[in-house]
Amino acid sequence: MPNANLILFVGEALVYVTAMIGLLHLRARLGLGVFVAALGVMHFIETYLAAVFYVQLPFGVISPGSAVLFSGKLMMILLLYVKEDAATVRQPIYGLLAGNFLTVALSLLLRQHDTVSIVAERSADLAFIDEMGWLMVWGTTILYFDALMIILLYERLGRWLRHFVTVRFLICGFVVLTFDQAAFYAALRWWNGAPAEVFWGGWMAKMLAAPFYAIAVGLYLNLSRHPSLAMSDRPLGDIFNTLTFRERYEDLLSRSGQDTLTGSLDRSRFEAEAPAMLRAASAENAAVTLMIIDVDHFKGVNDRFGHLEGDRVLQRLVETVKSKLRPVDRLFRYGGEEFVILCPAMMHADALRRAEEIRIAISDQIATPDGRSVTASIGLSSTPADGVSVEDLLAQADLRLYAAKGRGRNCVVGR
Ligand code: GH3
Ligand code: MG
Ligand code: MG
Repeated sequence: MPNANLILFVGEALVYVTAMIGLLHLRARLGLGVFVAALGVMHFIETYLAAVFYVQLPFGVISPGSAVLFSGKLMMILLLYVKEDAATVRQPIYGLLAGNFLTVALSLLLRQHDTVSIVAERSADLAFIDEMGWLMVWGTTILYFDALMIILLYERLGRWLRHFVTVRFLICGFVVLTFDQAAFYAALRWWNGAPAEVFWGGWMAKMLAAPFYAIAVGLYLNLSRHPSLAMSDRPLGDIFNTLTFRERYEDLLSRSGQDTLTGSLDRSRFEAEAPAMLRAASAENAAVTLMIIDVDHFKGVNDRFGHLEGDRVLQRLVETVKSKLRPVDRLFRYGGEEFVILCPAMMHADALRRAEEIRIAISDQIATPDGRSVTASIGLSSTPADGVSVEDLLAQADLRLYAAKGRGRNCVVGR
Protein backbone atom coordinates (compact mmCIF):
# COMPACT_ATOMS: atom_id res chain seq x y z
CA MET A 1 0.00 0.00 0.00
CA PRO A 2 2.18 2.86 -1.27
CA ASN A 3 -0.09 5.60 0.07
CA ALA A 4 0.02 4.32 3.63
CA ASN A 5 3.80 4.16 3.27
CA LEU A 6 3.88 7.77 2.12
CA ILE A 7 1.79 8.93 5.06
CA LEU A 8 4.06 7.03 7.43
CA PHE A 9 7.09 8.70 5.88
CA VAL A 10 5.65 12.16 6.35
CA GLY A 11 4.72 11.25 9.92
CA GLU A 12 8.25 10.04 10.65
CA ALA A 13 9.79 13.19 9.20
CA LEU A 14 7.41 15.35 11.24
CA VAL A 15 8.23 13.54 14.48
CA TYR A 16 11.94 13.76 13.70
CA VAL A 17 12.05 17.43 12.81
CA THR A 18 9.79 18.54 15.65
CA ALA A 19 11.74 16.66 18.29
CA MET A 20 15.18 17.64 17.02
CA ILE A 21 14.37 21.32 16.51
CA GLY A 22 12.79 21.27 19.96
CA LEU A 23 15.97 19.93 21.54
CA LEU A 24 18.08 22.43 19.63
CA HIS A 25 15.85 25.30 20.63
CA LEU A 26 16.07 24.33 24.29
CA ARG A 27 19.86 23.96 24.21
CA ALA A 28 20.39 26.98 26.44
CA ARG A 29 18.30 25.28 29.09
CA LEU A 30 19.04 21.59 28.59
CA GLY A 31 22.60 21.91 27.35
CA LEU A 32 23.70 21.20 23.79
CA GLY A 33 24.69 17.66 24.79
CA VAL A 34 21.07 16.52 24.75
CA PHE A 35 20.65 17.48 21.10
CA VAL A 36 24.01 16.03 20.10
CA ALA A 37 23.48 12.74 21.95
CA ALA A 38 20.05 12.34 20.34
CA LEU A 39 21.62 12.95 16.94
CA GLY A 40 24.35 10.39 17.60
CA VAL A 41 22.14 7.70 19.04
CA MET A 42 20.01 7.58 15.90
CA HIS A 43 22.99 6.87 13.70
CA PHE A 44 22.97 3.10 14.07
CA ILE A 45 19.31 2.59 13.25
CA GLU A 46 19.65 5.04 10.39
CA THR A 47 22.42 3.01 8.80
CA TYR A 48 20.66 -0.27 9.48
CA LEU A 49 17.49 0.98 7.80
CA ALA A 50 19.44 2.36 4.85
CA ALA A 51 21.13 -1.01 4.36
CA VAL A 52 18.10 -3.31 4.44
CA PHE A 53 14.81 -1.57 5.25
CA TYR A 54 13.11 -0.47 2.03
CA VAL A 55 9.50 0.30 1.23
CA GLN A 56 7.62 0.96 -1.96
CA LEU A 57 6.53 4.56 -2.53
CA PRO A 58 4.74 5.92 -5.63
CA PHE A 59 8.05 7.08 -7.11
CA GLY A 60 10.34 4.23 -6.14
CA VAL A 61 11.77 1.97 -3.52
CA ILE A 62 13.26 3.94 -0.65
CA SER A 63 14.46 3.68 2.92
CA PRO A 64 13.37 5.89 5.84
CA GLY A 65 16.97 5.53 7.03
CA SER A 66 18.33 7.79 4.34
CA ALA A 67 15.26 9.76 3.32
CA VAL A 68 14.05 10.73 6.79
CA LEU A 69 16.84 10.18 9.30
CA PHE A 70 19.94 10.92 7.25
CA SER A 71 18.52 13.89 5.34
CA GLY A 72 17.16 15.24 8.62
CA LYS A 73 20.51 14.84 10.36
CA LEU A 74 22.31 16.82 7.70
CA MET A 75 19.77 19.62 7.92
CA MET A 76 20.05 19.61 11.73
CA ILE A 77 23.82 19.90 11.45
CA LEU A 78 23.39 22.93 9.20
CA LEU A 79 20.83 24.40 11.58
CA LEU A 80 23.22 23.89 14.48
CA TYR A 81 25.86 25.77 12.51
CA VAL A 82 23.42 28.60 11.79
CA LYS A 83 22.44 28.90 15.45
CA GLU A 84 25.96 28.46 16.83
CA ASP A 85 29.20 28.39 14.86
CA ALA A 86 31.84 26.23 13.17
CA ALA A 87 33.59 25.34 16.42
CA THR A 88 30.37 23.91 17.83
CA VAL A 89 29.22 22.03 14.75
CA ARG A 90 32.61 20.31 14.49
CA GLN A 91 31.90 18.46 17.73
CA PRO A 92 29.04 16.15 16.63
CA ILE A 93 30.72 15.59 13.27
CA TYR A 94 33.99 14.42 14.83
CA GLY A 95 32.05 12.57 17.53
CA LEU A 96 30.12 10.58 14.92
CA LEU A 97 33.32 9.75 13.06
CA ALA A 98 35.10 8.66 16.24
CA GLY A 99 32.13 6.61 17.49
CA ASN A 100 31.83 4.75 14.21
CA PHE A 101 35.51 3.95 13.89
CA LEU A 102 35.36 2.71 17.47
CA THR A 103 32.35 0.53 16.64
CA VAL A 104 34.25 -1.13 13.83
CA ALA A 105 37.43 -1.54 15.87
CA LEU A 106 35.48 -3.17 18.71
CA SER A 107 33.57 -5.44 16.36
CA LEU A 108 36.90 -6.70 15.00
CA LEU A 109 37.79 -7.73 18.56
CA LEU A 110 34.30 -9.02 19.35
CA ARG A 111 34.36 -11.46 16.48
CA GLN A 112 37.34 -13.20 18.07
CA HIS A 113 35.08 -14.40 20.94
CA ASP A 114 33.86 -17.92 21.21
CA THR A 115 30.20 -17.16 22.03
CA VAL A 116 27.55 -19.31 23.71
CA SER A 117 23.91 -19.28 22.84
CA ILE A 118 21.78 -18.37 25.90
CA VAL A 119 18.43 -18.70 24.19
CA ALA A 120 17.76 -21.57 21.83
CA GLU A 121 17.93 -20.59 18.16
CA ARG A 122 19.27 -17.14 18.95
CA SER A 123 22.93 -16.75 18.23
CA ALA A 124 24.96 -13.63 17.70
CA ASP A 125 25.13 -12.43 14.13
CA LEU A 126 28.50 -10.74 13.95
CA ALA A 127 28.60 -10.75 10.20
CA PHE A 128 25.82 -8.22 10.57
CA ILE A 129 27.90 -6.01 12.88
CA ASP A 130 30.84 -6.26 10.49
CA GLU A 131 28.78 -5.21 7.56
CA MET A 132 26.89 -2.47 9.41
CA GLY A 133 30.14 -1.25 10.88
CA TRP A 134 31.79 -0.61 7.53
CA LEU A 135 28.67 0.94 6.13
CA MET A 136 28.53 3.23 9.17
CA VAL A 137 32.16 4.23 8.70
CA TRP A 138 31.49 4.93 5.05
CA GLY A 139 28.28 6.79 5.95
CA THR A 140 29.99 9.06 8.49
CA THR A 141 32.96 9.65 6.22
CA ILE A 142 30.58 10.89 3.57
CA LEU A 143 28.70 12.79 6.26
CA TYR A 144 31.95 14.55 7.13
CA PHE A 145 32.29 15.81 3.56
CA ASP A 146 28.55 16.48 3.32
CA ALA A 147 28.73 18.65 6.42
CA LEU A 148 31.72 20.64 5.15
CA MET A 149 30.05 21.07 1.80
CA ILE A 150 26.68 22.09 3.15
CA ILE A 151 28.20 24.73 5.45
CA LEU A 152 30.46 26.18 2.75
CA LEU A 153 27.61 26.22 0.28
CA TYR A 154 25.27 27.86 2.80
CA GLU A 155 27.83 30.59 3.44
CA ARG A 156 28.44 31.09 -0.28
CA LEU A 157 24.72 31.33 -1.02
CA GLY A 158 24.50 33.97 1.69
CA ARG A 159 26.17 36.42 -0.69
CA TRP A 160 23.11 36.46 -2.90
CA LEU A 161 20.34 35.09 -0.73
CA ARG A 162 21.21 36.29 2.75
CA HIS A 163 17.61 36.76 3.82
CA PHE A 164 16.15 33.74 2.15
CA VAL A 165 17.19 31.14 4.67
CA THR A 166 14.60 28.61 3.52
CA VAL A 167 15.83 28.88 -0.06
CA ARG A 168 19.42 28.49 1.09
CA PHE A 169 18.55 25.38 3.08
CA LEU A 170 16.65 24.06 0.10
CA ILE A 171 19.47 24.53 -2.41
CA CYS A 172 21.99 23.14 0.07
CA GLY A 173 19.72 20.12 0.61
CA PHE A 174 19.31 19.47 -3.12
CA VAL A 175 23.00 19.70 -3.91
CA VAL A 176 24.50 17.92 -0.93
CA LEU A 177 21.89 15.17 -0.70
CA THR A 178 22.43 14.42 -4.39
CA PHE A 179 26.16 14.06 -3.78
CA ASP A 180 25.43 11.98 -0.71
CA GLN A 181 23.01 9.69 -2.52
CA ALA A 182 25.60 8.96 -5.21
CA ALA A 183 28.31 8.23 -2.66
CA PHE A 184 26.14 6.11 -0.38
CA TYR A 185 24.60 4.19 -3.23
CA ALA A 186 28.07 3.33 -4.52
CA ALA A 187 28.72 1.60 -1.19
CA LEU A 188 25.34 -0.14 -1.17
CA ARG A 189 26.00 -1.46 -4.63
CA TRP A 190 29.46 -2.61 -3.67
CA TRP A 191 28.37 -4.36 -0.48
CA ASN A 192 24.81 -5.47 -1.19
CA GLY A 193 24.56 -5.33 -4.97
CA ALA A 194 21.66 -2.86 -4.59
CA PRO A 195 19.78 -2.37 -7.90
CA ALA A 196 19.76 0.99 -9.73
CA GLU A 197 16.17 1.73 -8.77
CA VAL A 198 17.38 2.07 -5.17
CA PHE A 199 19.52 4.98 -6.33
CA TRP A 200 16.70 6.78 -8.14
CA GLY A 201 14.05 6.07 -5.52
CA GLY A 202 16.37 7.25 -2.74
CA TRP A 203 17.35 10.32 -4.72
CA MET A 204 13.70 11.27 -5.31
CA ALA A 205 12.94 10.78 -1.64
CA LYS A 206 15.86 12.99 -0.62
CA MET A 207 14.73 15.64 -3.11
CA LEU A 208 11.35 15.62 -1.36
CA ALA A 209 12.95 15.57 2.09
CA ALA A 210 14.98 18.70 1.26
CA PRO A 211 11.98 21.05 0.80
CA PHE A 212 10.17 19.43 3.73
CA TYR A 213 13.07 20.09 6.11
CA ALA A 214 13.92 23.47 4.55
CA ILE A 215 10.38 24.70 5.15
CA ALA A 216 10.38 23.33 8.71
CA VAL A 217 13.69 25.05 9.47
CA GLY A 218 12.55 28.29 7.80
CA LEU A 219 9.35 28.29 9.84
CA TYR A 220 11.30 27.65 13.01
CA LEU A 221 13.87 30.38 12.35
CA ASN A 222 11.07 32.85 11.68
CA LEU A 223 9.00 31.83 14.67
CA SER A 224 11.98 31.86 16.99
CA ARG A 225 12.41 35.56 16.21
CA HIS A 226 9.08 36.10 17.90
CA PRO A 227 9.68 37.77 21.27
CA SER A 228 7.72 35.23 23.29
CA LEU A 229 9.89 32.41 21.98
CA ALA A 230 13.19 34.22 21.73
CA MET A 231 12.96 35.67 25.19
CA SER A 232 11.50 32.82 27.17
CA ASP A 233 14.55 32.16 29.27
CA ARG A 234 12.57 31.41 32.41
CA PRO A 235 13.51 28.09 34.00
CA LEU A 236 10.95 25.38 33.37
CA GLY A 237 11.25 24.07 36.88
CA ASP A 238 13.53 21.52 35.28
CA ILE A 239 14.93 19.24 37.96
CA PHE A 240 18.46 19.70 36.64
CA ASN A 241 18.17 23.43 37.10
CA THR A 242 17.56 22.99 40.76
CA LEU A 243 20.18 20.29 41.15
CA THR A 244 23.37 21.36 39.44
CA PHE A 245 25.87 23.61 41.13
CA ARG A 246 26.79 25.29 37.87
CA GLU A 247 23.21 26.40 37.35
CA ARG A 248 23.05 27.75 40.86
CA TYR A 249 26.35 29.52 40.38
CA GLU A 250 25.15 31.10 37.15
CA ASP A 251 21.93 32.08 38.79
CA LEU A 252 23.90 33.80 41.53
CA LEU A 253 26.06 35.61 38.97
CA SER A 254 23.03 36.73 37.01
CA ARG A 255 21.45 38.16 40.08
CA SER A 256 24.55 40.25 40.70
CA GLY A 257 23.44 42.11 37.57
CA GLN A 258 26.79 42.51 35.82
CA ASP A 259 27.87 40.77 32.67
CA THR A 260 31.22 39.21 33.56
CA LEU A 261 32.73 39.45 30.06
CA THR A 262 31.98 43.04 29.13
CA GLY A 263 31.15 44.70 32.41
CA SER A 264 27.87 46.02 31.04
CA LEU A 265 24.64 45.37 32.89
CA ASP A 266 23.11 41.99 32.17
CA ARG A 267 19.74 40.84 31.04
CA SER A 268 18.35 40.14 34.48
CA ARG A 269 19.06 43.77 35.30
CA PHE A 270 17.27 44.82 32.13
CA GLU A 271 14.26 42.79 33.16
CA ALA A 272 14.24 44.44 36.56
CA GLU A 273 14.95 48.02 35.48
CA ALA A 274 13.14 48.47 32.18
CA PRO A 275 9.54 48.30 33.46
CA ALA A 276 10.38 50.69 36.28
CA MET A 277 12.01 53.18 33.89
CA LEU A 278 9.00 53.06 31.56
CA ARG A 279 6.56 53.60 34.43
CA ALA A 280 8.52 56.57 35.73
CA ALA A 281 8.74 58.10 32.25
CA SER A 282 5.06 57.70 31.53
CA ALA A 283 4.20 59.33 34.86
CA GLU A 284 6.23 62.37 33.73
CA ASN A 285 4.97 62.19 30.13
CA ALA A 286 8.55 61.75 28.96
CA ALA A 287 9.70 59.58 26.07
CA VAL A 288 12.01 56.59 26.45
CA THR A 289 13.99 55.20 23.54
CA LEU A 290 15.20 51.65 23.33
CA MET A 291 17.99 50.58 20.96
CA ILE A 292 19.03 47.05 20.05
CA ILE A 293 22.56 46.73 18.75
CA ASP A 294 23.61 43.53 17.03
CA VAL A 295 27.13 42.96 15.73
CA ASP A 296 27.22 42.19 12.01
CA HIS A 297 28.54 38.82 10.93
CA PHE A 298 29.90 38.24 14.38
CA LYS A 299 29.96 34.53 13.85
CA GLY A 300 32.52 35.19 11.13
CA VAL A 301 34.79 36.90 13.68
CA ASN A 302 34.64 33.83 15.92
CA ASP A 303 35.14 31.47 13.01
CA ARG A 304 38.09 33.34 11.55
CA PHE A 305 39.90 34.50 14.67
CA GLY A 306 38.57 32.35 17.48
CA HIS A 307 36.27 32.99 20.40
CA LEU A 308 38.86 34.91 22.41
CA GLU A 309 39.10 37.49 19.67
CA GLY A 310 35.28 37.51 19.51
CA ASP A 311 35.21 38.21 23.24
CA ARG A 312 37.72 41.04 22.82
CA VAL A 313 35.52 42.61 20.16
CA LEU A 314 32.55 42.51 22.54
CA GLN A 315 34.60 44.19 25.25
CA ARG A 316 35.75 46.92 22.87
CA LEU A 317 32.19 47.35 21.69
CA VAL A 318 30.95 48.02 25.20
CA GLU A 319 33.73 50.56 25.84
CA THR A 320 32.96 52.31 22.57
CA VAL A 321 29.22 52.41 23.10
CA LYS A 322 29.59 53.62 26.69
CA SER A 323 31.72 56.55 25.53
CA LYS A 324 28.73 57.75 23.48
CA LEU A 325 26.13 57.50 26.24
CA ARG A 326 24.86 59.98 28.82
CA PRO A 327 25.17 59.04 32.50
CA VAL A 328 21.43 58.32 32.65
CA ASP A 329 21.49 55.86 29.73
CA ARG A 330 21.64 52.17 30.58
CA LEU A 331 23.54 49.59 28.54
CA PHE A 332 22.64 45.91 28.89
CA ARG A 333 24.08 42.80 27.30
CA TYR A 334 20.88 41.20 26.15
CA GLY A 335 22.26 38.06 24.50
CA GLY A 336 25.53 36.84 22.97
CA GLU A 337 26.41 39.80 20.76
CA GLU A 338 23.21 41.75 21.23
CA PHE A 339 23.02 44.81 23.42
CA VAL A 340 20.08 46.90 24.50
CA ILE A 341 20.30 50.56 25.48
CA LEU A 342 17.57 52.37 27.40
CA CYS A 343 17.64 56.14 27.00
CA PRO A 344 15.23 57.91 29.33
CA ALA A 345 13.91 61.35 28.36
CA MET A 346 15.12 61.01 24.80
CA MET A 347 12.91 61.77 21.79
CA HIS A 348 13.03 59.51 18.79
CA ALA A 349 14.70 62.03 16.49
CA ASP A 350 17.51 62.72 18.99
CA ALA A 351 17.91 59.01 19.57
CA LEU A 352 18.32 58.39 15.85
CA ARG A 353 21.20 60.85 15.78
CA ARG A 354 22.74 59.26 18.86
CA ALA A 355 22.43 55.78 17.38
CA GLU A 356 24.11 56.98 14.20
CA GLU A 357 27.04 58.30 16.27
CA ILE A 358 27.29 54.95 18.02
CA ARG A 359 27.24 53.08 14.73
CA ILE A 360 30.01 55.25 13.29
CA ALA A 361 32.11 55.00 16.45
CA ILE A 362 31.92 51.20 16.31
CA SER A 363 32.97 50.93 12.68
CA ASP A 364 35.74 53.54 13.14
CA GLN A 365 37.18 52.22 16.37
CA ILE A 366 36.79 48.45 16.28
CA ALA A 367 38.56 46.14 13.87
CA THR A 368 39.57 42.51 13.63
CA PRO A 369 43.28 41.60 13.46
CA ASP A 370 43.20 41.73 9.65
CA GLY A 371 42.28 45.41 9.85
CA ARG A 372 38.68 44.99 8.73
CA SER A 373 36.10 47.13 10.53
CA VAL A 374 33.65 45.49 12.84
CA THR A 375 30.20 46.95 12.22
CA ALA A 376 26.85 46.72 13.94
CA SER A 377 23.22 47.23 13.03
CA ILE A 378 20.83 49.15 15.27
CA GLY A 379 17.05 49.06 15.63
CA LEU A 380 15.22 51.81 17.59
CA SER A 381 11.84 52.24 19.16
CA SER A 382 10.40 54.89 21.47
CA THR A 383 7.44 55.44 23.75
CA PRO A 384 4.70 56.31 23.25
CA ALA A 385 4.45 55.94 19.46
CA ASP A 386 5.85 52.39 19.37
CA GLY A 387 3.96 51.26 22.46
CA VAL A 388 4.29 51.69 26.19
CA SER A 389 5.41 48.28 27.41
CA VAL A 390 8.88 46.76 27.42
CA GLU A 391 7.60 43.99 25.16
CA ASP A 392 6.26 46.48 22.60
CA LEU A 393 9.51 48.44 22.49
CA LEU A 394 11.61 45.30 22.19
CA ALA A 395 9.43 43.83 19.48
CA GLN A 396 9.47 47.05 17.41
CA ALA A 397 13.21 47.60 17.82
CA ASP A 398 13.83 43.98 16.95
CA LEU A 399 11.80 44.26 13.75
CA ARG A 400 13.77 47.35 12.77
CA LEU A 401 17.05 45.66 13.60
CA TYR A 402 15.98 42.89 11.27
CA ALA A 403 15.18 45.54 8.64
CA ALA A 404 18.65 47.08 9.19
CA LYS A 405 20.20 43.67 8.53
CA GLY A 406 18.07 43.49 5.41
CA ARG A 407 19.35 46.84 4.17
CA GLY A 408 22.87 45.51 4.13
CA ARG A 409 23.85 45.98 7.81
CA ASN A 410 26.00 48.74 9.36
CA CYS A 411 22.98 51.01 9.56
CA VAL A 412 20.36 52.40 11.92
CA VAL A 413 16.64 51.88 11.44
CA GLY A 414 14.06 53.79 13.42
CA ARG A 415 10.61 55.12 12.72
P1 GH3 B 1 24.18 38.90 11.65
O1 GH3 B 1 24.93 39.96 10.92
O2 GH3 B 1 23.00 38.36 10.89
O3 GH3 B 1 23.82 39.29 13.03
O4 GH3 B 1 25.20 37.66 11.71
P2 GH3 B 1 25.86 37.04 13.02
O5 GH3 B 1 27.06 36.28 12.64
O6 GH3 B 1 26.10 38.07 14.04
O7 GH3 B 1 24.72 35.97 13.44
P3 GH3 B 1 24.20 35.68 14.91
O8 GH3 B 1 23.73 36.94 15.55
O9 GH3 B 1 23.21 34.59 14.89
O10 GH3 B 1 25.51 35.07 15.59
C1 GH3 B 1 25.86 35.42 16.88
C2 GH3 B 1 27.08 34.62 17.26
O11 GH3 B 1 27.63 35.18 18.44
C3 GH3 B 1 26.81 33.18 17.60
C4 GH3 B 1 27.71 32.89 18.78
O12 GH3 B 1 28.68 31.94 18.44
C5 GH3 B 1 28.41 34.19 19.06
N1 GH3 B 1 28.52 34.51 20.46
C6 GH3 B 1 27.51 34.61 21.32
N2 GH3 B 1 27.99 34.95 22.56
C7 GH3 B 1 29.34 35.04 22.45
C8 GH3 B 1 30.39 35.36 23.37
O13 GH3 B 1 30.18 35.63 24.55
N3 GH3 B 1 31.66 35.36 22.88
C9 GH3 B 1 31.93 35.06 21.59
N4 GH3 B 1 33.20 35.09 21.19
N5 GH3 B 1 30.97 34.76 20.70
C10 GH3 B 1 29.68 34.75 21.13
MG1 MG C 1 22.57 38.08 17.05
MG1 MG D 1 24.90 39.35 14.77
